[in-house]
Amino acid sequence: MPASLIDGKAVAREIEAEVRAAISHLPFAPGLVAVRVGNDPASEIYVRNKAKKAQELGLRGNERVFPETMTEAELLAEVDRLNRDDEVDGILVQLPLPKQIDPQKVIDAVAPEKDVDGFHPINVGKLHLGRRTLAPCTPAGCIRLIESTGVPIAGANAVVIGRSDIVGKPMASLLLQRNATVTICHSKTRDLGAIARNADILIAAIGKARFVTAEMVKPGAVVIDVGINRGADGKLAGDVDFARVREVAGFITPVPGGVGPMTIAMLMKNTVTAAEWRRA
Ligand code: NDP
Repeated sequence: MPASLIDGKAVAREIEAEVRAAISHLPFAPGLVAVRVGNDPASEIYVRNKAKKAQELGLRGNERVFPETMTEAELLAEVDRLNRDDEVDGILVQLPLPKQIDPQKVIDAVAPEKDVDGFHPINVGKLHLGRRTLAPCTPAGCIRLIESTGVPIAGANAVVIGRSDIVGKPMASLLLQRNATVTICHSKTRDLGAIARNADILIAAIGKARFVTAEMVKPGAVVIDVGINRGADGKLAGDVDFARVREVAGFITPVPGGVGPMTIAMLMKNTVTAAEWRRA
């Protein structure tokens, strides 16, 4: 029997409903500012979609666009201004930045309590310590997708392929917090197939189209595909060979329509959470 599809759009709508409900109980509309430097076409679409979704859900969504020639000092000054603006609850600096700007310096400059991407070292540290914090949106969204299947995370063997700071590592922390037994794989991992085949929950965050084959998946496993790869034909493909893995897995996310819609929804949720905590 083919795997059940995990509908990211439907779960994202549930989160959006939670965001709307939370805002309706607040005496103010939380403010999210998305900062974009330069004119990378993909960033332009991402930032516009984030600002649009914020407004749709009742947040004050704002986009600040600066020229490609902006200096690091100018961007740090802008971040500092937003940090001190009491009306701003969440700050998001869209990556990648032009080469004259060190992204690490900018991430470090965002006030941790307004860091709705969950990238600031203080928030990363809190996540790893299992403390209350703003968690990175994509892995937090993956957790919601796994929870939507009803498959218990506690005690499960979870394998995360990929160890980036924005997906793989925080994904592993979130799973560990929920008492999964977690293995992180990367490009130097030996016999990755055998490790993946032991996973009750398999997360692919690699950036290589159809990397995860049916032979690497345990029958009945929950498979979460974070990858977004654009083929020569312009079509999107995930990191999982969807058509074949679907025949083996118990639950699987499609690409598009799986993890993608969750990232923006979790960003909105983080903004409301940041507002509630900061203004409490
Ligand atoms: P990175 O390139 O930062 O990390 C990729 C990871 O995959 C690295 O840890 C790398 O290992 C590992 N890897 C690469 N090749 C292999 C291999 N042959 N075997 C095992 N591991 C390998 O990517 P990101 O984490 O930023 O993104 C991963 C994917 O998720 C991309 O397709 C990206 O577009 C997508 N993405 C989707 C989002 C969404 O909203 N749906 C959000 C963010 C990302 P090593 O560390 O050893 O190099």
